[in-house]
Amino acid sequence: MTDRYASFVQSAAGRALVKRLGLPDPPRLRRHHPGDPLLAGPALLGAATGGRLAEPITKILTAAGVELADPTGANPQRYGALLFDATGITDSTELRQLYDFFHPQARAVLPSGRVIVLGTPPQECPTPREATAQRALEGLVRSIGKEFGRGTTAQLVYVTRGDGAAADGPDLSAGTHTSLESTVRFILSGRSAYVSGQVIRVGGGAASAPADWDRPLDGQVVLVTGAARGIGAALAKVLARDGAQVVALDIPAAGDALAAVANDIGGTAVQLDLTAPDAPTRLAEHLASRHGRVDVVVHNAGITRDKTLGRMDADRWDQVIDVNLSSQERINDVLLERELIPAGGRIISVSSIAGIAGNRGQTNYATSKAGVIGLVDSLAPALRERGISVNAVAPGFIETRLTARIPLVVREAGRRMNSLAQGGLPVDVAETIGWLAWPASGAVSGNVVRVCGQSLLGA
Ligand code: NAD
Repeated sequence: MTDRYASFVQSAAGRALVKRLGLPDPPRLRRHHPGDPLLAGPALLGAATGGRLAEPITKILTAAGVELADPTGANPQRYGALLFDATGITDSTELRQLYDFFHPQARAVLPSGRVIVLGTPPQECPTPREATAQRALEGLVRSIGKEFGRGTTAQLVYVTRGDGAAADGPDLSAGTHTSLESTVRFILSGRSAYVSGQVIRVGGGAASAPADWDRPLDGQVVLVTGAARGIGAALAKVLARDGAQVVALDIPAAGDALAAVANDIGGTAVQLDLTAPDAPTRLAEHLASRHGRVDVVVHNAGITRDKTLGRMDADRWDQVIDVNLSSQERINDVLLERELIPAGGRIISVSSIAGIAGNRGQTNYATSKAGVIGLVDSLAPALRERGISVNAVAPGFIETRLTARIPLVVREAGRRMNSLAQGGLPVDVAETIGWLAWPASGAVSGNVVRVCGQSLLGA
């Protein structure tokens, strides 16, 4: 489970060898600790002529205590983040403004720095030219994620116009920044350490800022399935740290480990096999009697039963589809039918990059994880009226027992074939799910966010 190579390259001997042989050089990533400042250095903010987000973004950065660099400053500076409001770009000829902003700063970003480009969703653009130019932003951001190195990540955030293009969108033109704030804070912070090259869509939907950004889940009742170990155990810890009351669920056979997780965080434990026919109703009754509701449902439990398709027995197929996909649907149906997920609620599923790229020996798993993406696509618009957001994360190579079982050579390839040259940690997936769970993230729905260090698979 440990990445010995990454530890080795941090040593003096390791550094020398990496340099001499041109070996992969995994940087030490900046991760979140409560009370940390959002960035290690000042942020440089740029905007294309006519951009509409400079004002809200300035407000967000100022409120978050981020120092804004003076672009005309005489002294060359190093930056914690580069942010560019590209919403003013309406034609491909204006893309030059991206070059003009980023070119002089390409080597001025501090380790584990952040690059954020803000755009308008192409489908909301009034002209084909503007939609084309806005779509082009993806190529820049994904390339910066691959180029800048030293733990720097890059994301494109498409922000709805909210001026009729999406009738219930946020009125960003009037300076409202609430919808965007949670996403900008997440990206800038160490919480997003292993998220890079992503396109995130911020739309309409109610969002409310927390009283304390170090406890963004205060008072929220959160269900985490598969919480006894791995990513689920990290999730329980991170969500409890952020203020949530966690209901941790796992199979009865994992009862001891589950109890340890729940005790550790002052949460409650539910022993339940999600595939049991009465699991949805038993779970609904438990949540109703103990809490009267569940604000956030995190479908994390998942299994693999790998075999190439020709050698796979039907049981392997059935079990994987049932645990990873069908049980999520059955539970959603019952919780929604009984109105246990209130307005402002969240459904967050764990998919996988295998569900995007496919994987040899994993037809069952990849089918189930692609289905999870389908669930987000179909349920997010359907639940919009009820004020419930639906999102998924798609982890890449995460250091857990699941990946420790992969044969060495394949494991080493999986670990290094991404822009950060290392595997992610369970906490990286947990922090990303945490952001989607925050009441402040109500404007983020229908997204599938990869937590994969910009893995080459399925990119
Ligand atoms: P894990 O095997 O360590 O943990 C999964 C947990 O789910 C276990 O505690 C298990 O007991 C529980 N579970 C399985 N079947 C269940 C059932 N029927 N009812 C209740 N609980 C059940 O796995 P992990 O690596 O922590 O993965 C968590 C999620 O992340 C899974 O959905 C997995 O597919 C996904 N994922 C993991 C990786 C990775 O690299 N580890 C990559 C992509 C996606």
